[in-house]
Parts: sequence; structure tokens; C-alpha cells
Amino acid sequence: MAYKITSQCISCKLCASVCPVGAIKIIDGNHWIDPDLCTNCVDSVYSVPQCKAGCPTCNGCKKQPNDYWESWFDTYNNIVKNLKKEPDYWETWFNCYSQKYSEQLQKLNSK
Ligand code: SF4
Ligand code: SF4
Repeated sequence: MAYKITSQCISCKLCASVCPVGAIKIIDGNHWIDPDLCTNCVDSVYSVPQCKAGCPTCNGCKKQPNDYWESWFDTYNNIVKNLKKEPDYWETWFNCYSQKYSEQLQKLNSK
């Protein structure tokens, strides 16, 4: 199976309407890709997977890794991406530390 609906899906139903082979099913309100029908949009008129292209979330329709190393790099890239979402971590830490240090210093000087 190449594509899978993830937990980020918000059930907008867009992918189900654009899939060229009708591989996206909705069961009890949950979207699901039938692996026997999904062609990855290969050999179709589209150059990109339509479910992923139209999904309003970042990872609602996500390509599944084919083997161990693809899975490993997929996990690694996700971790790095999440770390990069917090570029101000050390700056925040330093500002907080500086503020606390400054408060302690003021307390000591006022005695
Ligand atoms: S990759 Fe293409 S064929 Fe597969 S579920 Fe998505 S839209 Fe349908
Ligand atoms: S397009 Fe994305 S958010 Fe909408 S139903 Fe499909 S997977 Fe879920």
C-alpha cells in the first residue's frame, strides 16, 4: 500500500471525490484507502497523487514507506521537521534564564 489516511484527517471528504480510481472509502465517518484499488495515481493523467494534492491538512494522506530504511528516514524526517518548528527553543530558554537570574540579582542587591 502506498498511501494511507492518517490521524490528521479532518474528514473533509475532498480526497474521496478526487481519487481517480475510487480507492478512498468512508466507513463510519472514517476515511480509508483500499490498498487493492490505490494505484498511487501512477499511470493516470495526474502527475501527483490526487488525495495528497487536495488534502487541506499537511499529512492527511500520507505515502507509506516500502521498507525498513524508507520507514526509518520517514520517522527521522518527521522528528527533524518537528524540531525545526521550535527554532526559538534556546532563545526562549536563554531569555527565561536571564530574567530569573536578573530577578535573583535584584533581590540580592536590595538586601
Ligand atoms: S494515491 Fe491516487 S489512487 Fe491512491 S488513494 Fe490517493 S488519489 Fe486514489
Ligand atoms: S482530503 Fe485530507 S482531510 Fe480531507 S478527508 Fe481526505 S485525508 Fe481527510
